Amino acid sequence: RLLRRRIRRNDCTMATAARMPCRPGHPAKLSASLLLLVPWCVSAGIMRTTFNLRPTSAASIVASRSRNTVTMRTEEPRRVVVVGAGWGGLSVAHALSKSGNVHVTVVDAAPRPGGLVSDGFLTTSGTRRAEAGQHGFWGEYHNIFALLDELSISDALTGYAEQGQYSPDGLQAVWPVYREQKQELPTGIGQALYTRFLNLPLTDLATAAPLVLAFSEFDDSPEAWARYDSISFRDLCVRLGVSKRLYKEAFEPMILTGLFAPGEECSAAAALGMAYFFVLKHQTSFDVRWARGNVGEVIFAPWVEAMKARNVTFMQSTRVVGFEETADSKIGAKIDAEIDSTSAEIKSTLRPTAQQSSRLSAVLCSPAGAAASDPPTRLEADNVVFAVGAAALSGLVRNSPILSRHAELRRFCNLRGTSVLATRLFLDRPVRTPYSANACWGFDEGVGMTWFDIRQLHKPAHDHEPGAVLEVDYYHSNSLLSMSDSDIVTKAKHDLDQMLGADCVAAEVIDAAVVRLPSGVNWYYPGSYKNMPDTTSTAIPNAYFVGDLVRTRHGSWSQEKAFVTGIEAANAILHRPVESGVIPLKDDETHVAFGRSAVSRVQKLLGLGDRAKGPSIADFLF
Ligand SMILES: Cc1cc2nc3c(=O)[nH]c(=O)nc-3n(C[C@H](O)[C@H](O)[C@H](O)COP(=O)(O)OP(=O)(O)OC[C@H]3O[C@@H](n4cnc5c(N)ncnc54)[C@H](O)[C@@H]3O)c2cc1C
Repeated sequence: RLLRRRIRRNDCTMATAARMPCRPGHPAKLSASLLLLVPWCVSAGIMRTTFNLRPTSAASIVASRSRNTVTMRTEEPRRVVVVGAGWGGLSVAHALSKSGNVHVTVVDAAPRPGGLVSDGFLTTSGTRRAEAGQHGFWGEYHNIFALLDELSISDALTGYAEQGQYSPDGLQAVWPVYREQKQELPTGIGQALYTRFLNLPLTDLATAAPLVLAFSEFDDSPEAWARYDSISFRDLCVRLGVSKRLYKEAFEPMILTGLFAPGEECSAAAALGMAYFFVLKHQTSFDVRWARGNVGEVIFAPWVEAMKARNVTFMQSTRVVGFEETADSKIGAKIDAEIDSTSAEIKSTLRPTAQQSSRLSAVLCSPAGAAASDPPTRLEADNVVFAVGAAALSGLVRNSPILSRHAELRRFCNLRGTSVLATRLFLDRPVRTPYSANACWGFDEGVGMTWFDIRQLHKPAHDHEPGAVLEVDYYHSNSLLSMSDSDIVTKAKHDLDQMLGADCVAAEVIDAAVVRLPSGVNWYYPGSYKNMPDTTSTAIPNAYFVGDLVRTRHGSWSQEKAFVTGIEAANAILHRPVESGVIPLKDDETHVAFGRSAVSRVQKLLGLGDRAKGPSIADFLF
């Protein structure tokens, strides 16, 4: 009845129709359910808000009624607001904007798009642009590579090159270009044989072998995460007998630069997943390319222009400060209570309608420089995509009574970020650098470190500079953030001097940039998995989450993961299969698949037919 009345008044949306199906065999129950709701809504005077009805012009509606269904078509575009313009936010905007009747608005607090990869920073002199650290594109970044092809900017990346690993005592290891080796070997063996460790004894390297057991069990499934997430990666290594030296010189630096925190503060599940994706998927996985300029200039600028041409609206320097929902939550709660007292069948019909009471209807934002007394800008939304990192997501929930009413979202308040510090030094003379990209260990306790020859990577952008342009990035760097800019520059230069010797010592810094990202990157601390979002919220049916924080089965990490989750969220919004348009990772190599299947069979056997009940390797260790 309600529907018919609405159709007559020409103001019913497709969403409403979808939520009120005239199911065969249930006409009486449907009428009863609707009647139950009407008094609540009318008495509160919120008919439109509860049902999320939006006025639509008569001409834009086509309604047809068959025996059992009412179908409606509206020409109004779906309004999607994306909070955050990093890889995740841009990815969802990109996918949605290609799919027709959707209007996307991307709101970002920073002045330039890119999120953690943004280049919206200047040097002390104010004349040179700097980035929030260097970002590599590893062998398995198939979806990002496909995007670059689509945008016709595949030359935005360098070729593959050897990489160095340094300690204060000099060069310690060289990672070759694995795809250029004579033969591609089974994964694990290729990396072990071709990596050139200059000082690490074979006896220490051999102690990595038991980790194969953990890699065989950890298949990235939710069950595997549950088993390994509460253990720290360091504990896992200790229990499996990894030597102290191998851990300190190879594994700890890898975790510090890959997951931005030391092994004792990182989930073993995250470490296993990350290492498998970046290093072990195939022999070639660890080959890495870098941008030929600031990523903001060579990738994000053309990408954003392409999206603007498809009518995506970008609101930079604008912070999201709150949300509105469609109806009074008390009404939803009352309806919920009413539903609880009805039969199961009526419950299933009514529950979605009650949930509508907590749909987000608008995003409130505040442009940089606005006075506290200025009213926020209001963006009406049919869908809201949260594309922010851990610390920002936690803050949004803490500060929003609407979001924090839901237990599902309140758990995001447990998420944390860890700090990163990026420095770019412009020197007065050239300095010889054996490798353009390098990782380090042994400088500051618990702090990860990488350095890059920017002039070499960004060639020819800095050819006019008188000397070298070197970047030193520090991860898990809370202990360094409070230093003054000039002290940080002095420290970075001193660290480089130790590695590069007299050449570098003789050079003077003529300009520098210091970029601090306090709590900027996601922290995969032990036990964090249970607090992470899924792509689609269950509590707020029109809210979605993207970014490298989101749980996904794709198996990728970092920029690639953020990009993939963006496509997955767009699929969810458009009711497409989750994997539509996503390039999956290649299958496990035969020996890995065999190992995983063997472990799984043994677990199933010991669990008397149920793998989940079988013991885990983690159970034997703790
Ligand atoms: C120094 C450094 C080096 C890295 N190296 C690599 C690498 O080599 N390879 C790799 O793949 N990855 C690397 N990463 C990780 C990579 O940057 C991230 O995985 C990726 O950028 C995450 O993208 P995202 O979209 O999930 O989130 P983010 O990039 O964090 O984007 C979130 C956006 O949300 C915005 N935001 C937050 N709160 C609000 C609000 N209230 N209102 C509006 N906007 C808001 C922020 O301004 C930001 O733009 C590195 C990161 C750092 C910091």
